[in-house]
Formats: sequence, C-alpha cells, structure tokens
Amino acid sequence: MSLPDLPFDPSHCLIGGSWRPPAKGGTLALIDPSDGSELTRIARGQSEDINAAVTAAQAALDGEWGRFTALERGRMLTRIGQLVLEHVDLLAELEARDVGKPLSQARADAIALARYMEFYGGAADKIHGETIPYLDGYTVYTLREPHGVTGHIVPWNYPMQIIGRSVGAALAMGNAAVLKPAEEACLTALMFAEIARAAGLPDGALNVVPGLGAEAGAALSSHNGVQHISFTGSVATGALIQQAAGANVIPVTLELGGKSPQLVFEDANLDEALPFLVNAGIQNAGQTCSASSRILVQRSRYDEVVAAMSKRYAALTVGPALGDHHVGPLISARQKEIVLGFLEKGADLKVAAKGQIIDTAPGAGAYVAPHLLLCPDPEHALAQQEIFGPVQVVIPFDDEAQALAIANGTDYGLVASIWTENGARQLRLAKALKSGQVFINNYGAGGGVELPFGGIGKSGHGREKGFEALYGFSTLKTVAAKHG
Ligand code: NAD
Repeated sequence: MSLPDLPFDPSHCLIGGSWRPPAKGGTLALIDPSDGSELTRIARGQSEDINAAVTAAQAALDGEWGRFTALERGRMLTRIGQLVLEHVDLLAELEARDVGKPLSQARADAIALARYMEFYGGAADKIHGETIPYLDGYTVYTLREPHGVTGHIVPWNYPMQIIGRSVGAALAMGNAAVLKPAEEACLTALMFAEIARAAGLPDGALNVVPGLGAEAGAALSSHNGVQHISFTGSVATGALIQQAAGANVIPVTLELGGKSPQLVFEDANLDEALPFLVNAGIQNAGQTCSASSRILVQRSRYDEVVAAMSKRYAALTVGPALGDHHVGPLISARQKEIVLGFLEKGADLKVAAKGQIIDTAPGAGAYVAPHLLLCPDPEHALAQQEIFGPVQVVIPFDDEAQALAIANGTDYGLVASIWTENGARQLRLAKALKSGQVFINNYGAGGGVELPFGGIGKSGHGREKGFEALYGFSTLKTVAAKHG
C-alpha cells in the first residue's frame, strides 16, 4: 500500500527552511514492519548535511528567530500545536506504518505531540531569573538564556512524543534545533518539521537531517557548533554520545530506558491494578523506555495475580498496525531477533500465558507474541536486562524489605509503581525506590507531558518534560551590578 501524499519529499532534509537532498545524495530504505515492504526512501544525511544544519541553526539564532520574544516563541509553538491537531489522522497513519504501532496508540502520540506544543507554548514566557540579596551597593540578578544550537538524537519507538518533549522545550527557551531522527522511523519527524515550517517558524530554527547513527548521529553529537545534546536510546549509544559531548564540554540529557518494576502488595486493589500491570508491559509491543517489564508480587497473592494477568494475556491479539490490535509488530526484523534471543535465554522460565499472532499477519512482518513469564530468581537475565519487546516477568517477594531490594536491584532506575492501600508504606517506598519517577496506585508508561521524566543509574541523567525541561534547555547567567 503506497503512502499518502506528503507535502515534502521524504528523501530530503530540511535545512535552513528548505527541503533539499543530502549533499552526497544517498538514500536509505524505510521498512514497514507490519509486512516487511519498503515504505519509501529517506535521506542518508552525513557530516556535510549536519554542518549545513548547524550553520543554518546558528544563522537563525543570529537572525529573526533569535529576536523572538518569549511571548512570540510561545505563540509560535501554540500555533504549531494547533496545526499538529489538524493533521492528527495523517500523523497517526504515518507513525503506525513507520513504527508498526497500533493505530490508536499512534493517534494518542500525535495528540501528545500537539499537547507538548501547547504546554511549552504556554510555558515559554513563564520561566525567568531571580534577584539575589548581596552586598550593600549591589543589585544582583540572574538571566535564563538559551544554550544556542541544540542537537536532538531521537529513537524509533516514540518519535512524535520524544520530538515534542525535547524540541518543544528547546524552542520554547529560544534555542535552534538540529534533529536527527532514527533511520528506522522518521516520517513523522519530517511531517512535524513541515508543519512547523507551514506555521511560520523562522528558517533554521528547526532543521532535520535523517541518516545513520554512525554517520549523521555521530557528526551531530561531536559537532563543535552544538551547545547541548538531548538523546534517547540505548545505553551503549548514550555512552558514545556522552563521550563525544565531553570532548566539546557541552551538557547532555540521556534517557536510556530501564527495567521498571511494579510492586503489588497483598492489600493491593487488583481490579485497579490489572490493566496497568499488563498494558505498561505490552504498550508499543514493549518497546517503551518506561515499559514495566518486572511485576513484583507479594507471595500471598502471587497465584491470583498470575492467573488474572494470564487471562488478559490470552486475550491479546497481535497483528498489522493499521488493524489496531493490542500489539503490533516490532520495529524491525533485527529487533525481533533480539527479543527472540531473550526468549531463548529465558527458556528455563515457565510461560504463564501468551498472546496470539493473528493467522493473517504477513509472514514478513516482525511479529512476536507477548509472553508472561514466571521468574522466581530476580537475578535472572530476563529480570535484569532491558528486552524492549512484549515480555514481562513476574517475581514473588515475601515482605517490603525484599520487594525494595529486588526493585532497586538492577542497573536501571526510570519508573516504578507501588500498589498498596497502606499510606505509610506508600510514602516509605516512594522515598526509598531508586527511580526517576514513582507512581502510587497507577503507572504512567511514557505519560504525563507535565511530569518531569528521566532516570538514574544506567537509565541516564537530566530531566525532560514538564517545566523542569526548560531549565535543562537553558543556561543561567548571573549579573552583579555595583552601583553604590
Ligand atoms: P540506538 O540507541 O543505537 O539508536 C537511537 C538513536 O541514536 C537513533 O537515532 C540512531 O541513529 C542514533 N545513533 C546510533 N548510533 C549513534 C552514534 N554512534 N552516534 C550518534 N547517534 C547514534 O538504539 P537502537 O540500535 O535503535 O536499538 C537498540 C536497543 O536500544 C533496543 O533494543 C533498546 O533496548 C534500546 N532503545 C531504547 C530506547 C529508549 O526509549 N530508551 C529507544 C530505542 C532503543
């Protein structure tokens, strides 16, 4: 099935407000993971294109975009958000085809993208400096200023949401952005850039250069004209990006995924918990940085929780993205191999339940049935390593201390949730859990435009989303005036 008509050529980059082919003219195939067919070809941007994009971004800062007041930037983002809303159906279809994401989930992401623009549009003129009491005869104040050119290296799992949170906050603070979407999925990044252009965003304020990580991505993260890098993706690539940024002594925000637990205590309200326990693991086929891949259950209710989750698992269907099943294909044949490799590593674990791949799912699609596995050993590889597929392990515990030790017992710390009616336990654990976000009697896999988000340990550092991101995408200048 061909793609809908697009108002740009997907094999081009957007640099300085114009769509143009990459300098060396190369292209890469974009694959539809629902059936393995080629959707279209995208630009294979390289260092020449990144250089041009950084130059265009700097020119925007030195020109019209740099003169925008905070109010004007806010209005611009709000207008972009309105245009995103007018294009929700197209954006959802592009994301579904490109990522393999079930259509209703892709639609929710498009609406979230608009919401990020609304949020950061409204916030742009609400961030300000302070006055500081100092010596007699002085007035001291601080100014919040943009970093300058910001680099945004985005993965394939939630392109719209991640672009919304990082590019939205960067533009709100007056930075000019160079965006490198993932080679596996970049249609909505291109469409978003076209929407921003059509909304009147000054040339060069947002530039998009698709391409391979080792080429365009590495060129962006090591460019000495870039003053801040925001990255979401794997730990290994995050470490490379931090090294490259270190050589230029610029700040980085790294969001690197996790092994996020939900802790179910014996007094938990299971009816409330159940949808969160399962959905947080299978949303976007488990390819979610904040997927809840570990379910920790107090032993007295272990069998009951496993039985209830198994019933839901058995009803899960897996099929093409546009068919809007519970679970779509994984992003690629490569990702399918990674997840099947994990299932092999977990062959010693009892399979409590599995979802069903529909009979008509194309054989060349990257489908993996969701697996619910019983895992008595919290040190097992499947209870420790990020799988990035529709696989959850259920781990028993005896008491609060053991639950906490298991929950904190991985290299990661992105999201955790606590299911208990005991208020003191809620507060104790919320403090003790090593995690960037803690949910009490709910779970927000990727949700919450307003909620600061980011990890500790191997989950990364820095915070995106909410007002907090605006501090990360700006720098503070202190002005000390002696006037006597
Ligand atoms: P990746 O981290 O390699 O890719 C993410 C982004 O980084 C892409 O845009 C890619 O082009 C870019 N990139 C890759 N190498 C780069 C380099 N040397 N310099 C600069 N940019 C570079 O992830 P992947 O290979 O697509 O997926 C592998 C695993 O990563 C997954 O199985 C999953 O565990 C994890 N992952 C996590 C997230 C998340 O949301 N935290 C997202 C995607 C993947």
